[in-house]
Amino acid sequence: MAEIRLFEKDPYAPIKYTYEVSEVLYRGKSPYQEFAVVTNPFFGRMLILDGVVQFTERDEFYYHEMLAHVALHAMKAPKTVIVIGGGDGGVIREVLKHPTVEKAYLVDIDSEVTRVSREFFPTVSSGLSDPRVVEAPMDGAIFMQEFEGTADAILVDSTDIVGFAKSLFTEEFFGKAARILGPTGAFVTLSESMHFHLPMVREVQNTLKKAFPKVDLYTAPIATYPGNWWCFAVGTNGLDLRAQARDQVGPTRYYCNDIHKACFLPKYLYDRMMEEGRESM
Ligand code: SAM
Repeated sequence: MAEIRLFEKDPYAPIKYTYEVSEVLYRGKSPYQEFAVVTNPFFGRMLILDGVVQFTERDEFYYHEMLAHVALHAMKAPKTVIVIGGGDGGVIREVLKHPTVEKAYLVDIDSEVTRVSREFFPTVSSGLSDPRVVEAPMDGAIFMQEFEGTADAILVDSTDIVGFAKSLFTEEFFGKAARILGPTGAFVTLSESMHFHLPMVREVQNTLKKAFPKVDLYTAPIATYPGNWWCFAVGTNGLDLRAQARDQVGPTRYYCNDIHKACFLPKYLYDRMMEEGRESM
């Protein structure tokens, strides 16, 4: 049988990743993006959107745990969490591990992502049937404009900062998030790779600073995201996410008390990253 290869179409990585494909389990299209579910001998099943790897069975937990648990462990009793994007359910699965969470909004523009995840990734989508989950299949920017309540955490798990995901990285979007979160809430969003996209990482920090009095950044090692040194940008109205408020909830495979302490960028690296015009560390 002819060898099949997946040539990842990352929008702006300086290298292109190629994955061996053992089997193509699904290909489809929604009004928003092209879908593929493939298996790779090493990573297992992989979700591909518009040619870009979203997650793999083997290593999805690094990203999903780190997007959910750093903010939520900096709070005594998070109750309401909004996940923007993340239709696959991976971040929601982690959010629901916190017993104080009463409501978890899942706001993905494309409900097809949730359907495909339920069909092909049962361990990633396992939390989607939890009664605490409120699915709102719509543009996250519109959801935020219309949302009138408060939340303890807003977690953005979108596709790369291009196309219809760009609406989730504007000063207006961050400003509305800051108003929803109040004094003790936290906003966290992916902000690409420190190795490959440092100017973009800095741009997200600078935009966050226009909306939040306190910003920060932590990272995690994500083998299947181009550049690997993956950034999570933080905005709060005063809460310090570096201060863990309670012992880790479990079970987790990567996040733990020590990772919470170690994942934030030390000040000298943060300051270097923020130097205008710097292209690399
Ligand atoms: N963990 C992956 C990553 O970091 O690349 C992201 C996974 S998740 C599948 C990305 C989701 O963001 C997609 O399901 C996509 O539909 C959603 N998305 C992109 N732009 C959006 C928007 N403006 N509002 C809501 N969801 C959006």
